[in-house]
Amino acid sequence: MIDVLNIQTSQVKTSKVSQCDFDNLVFGKTFSDHMFVATYANNTWQDLKIVPYGDITISPALSALHYGQAIFEGLKAYKNEKGEVLVFRPMENWKRMNKSAERLCMPTLPEEVFMGGLTQLLALDKNWIPAKPGYSLYIRPYMFAADEYIGVRPSNTYTFIIFTSPVGAYYSAPVKVRVETHYTRAAAGGMGFAKAAGNYASSMLPAQLAHKDGYDQLLWTDAKEHAYFEESGTMNVMFVINDTLITPPAADTILKGITRDSVLRLARDWGMKVEERPVAVKEVMDAVNNGTLQEAFGAGTAATIAHIAVIGYEGKDYTLPAVTERKFSNKVLKTLDDIKVGKAADPHNWIYKV
Ligand code: PMP
Repeated sequence: MIDVLNIQTSQVKTSKVSQCDFDNLVFGKTFSDHMFVATYANNTWQDLKIVPYGDITISPALSALHYGQAIFEGLKAYKNEKGEVLVFRPMENWKRMNKSAERLCMPTLPEEVFMGGLTQLLALDKNWIPAKPGYSLYIRPYMFAADEYIGVRPSNTYTFIIFTSPVGAYYSAPVKVRVETHYTRAAAGGMGFAKAAGNYASSMLPAQLAHKDGYDQLLWTDAKEHAYFEESGTMNVMFVINDTLITPPAADTILKGITRDSVLRLARDWGMKVEERPVAVKEVMDAVNNGTLQEAFGAGTAATIAHIAVIGYEGKDYTLPAVTERKFSNKVLKTLDDIKVGKAADPHNWIYKV
């Protein structure tokens, strides 16, 4: 058992927060003052510390750089009107990180390390969350193999870090997506359900090819037949057909999104018909053609909901119903965004107060 209180803290002398241009934040480029670091060695997590955010020294032979034992998470902290720091479902990120760790032969993290590190870091850097509508602090926990060794085997040592990055109000314009029928993100038996760095590396070329053709992102399909939808870019994908919310099941090729789970829960709360089952490309394209497809969207932490405006399939673009007419996704977006900042009731206790 690790003593949560035993986190050595070395604070910056002067915070950089006053120099931060909060009005012109570019995602992922500004970092707050501190980071949490823990080391795994001799079969235990140790040396828990909060230190000034800054470069780390690694060996050229660092195992993670060669064989990719590297996993991460992404979540956000918000401020409510009272200035309190609220985090949306962080325990789910902790659990998912441990599922990723198991798949990549990495050590799991005790709750005290993940939640203790996160809580103390946010308490220290809370001034990095401006009390402005839509602003949040993106939290990036990650773990990598730290052995200086280039033999192919699971590392014996690991580093776990959490740092944070302020982000401005994020709105996703409706996206144009292309159904990917050549490349695949994940295959059955692979590691698609893990938030592993390698999954993102392999998605970059196909995404870049789609960008060149004018699409914002891809609609991934299954590895075997390219006949069933899986995810949309780095979001889970959902459709409303005949007033039923339909989404692919969270099997081993799909990252089980926390937004996905929250959207499904709210839909069920509201009495909507929900189906988690394989979604055939043909079924959706038929529904587009016969006018029964009402909504299509991606669900993920970054934008909460990204409406899909156009689907490109087999060289042709299909325009979906106007975003203003989409009752469910607009309502769920507003409700989730309100819950996250403490403006709406939180019936499932999703908010963790720091
Ligand atoms: N799928 C992939 C591949 C992702 O990277 C993400 C973002 N974490 C999601 C889905 C959505 O997950 P969440 O709602 O937990 O952000």
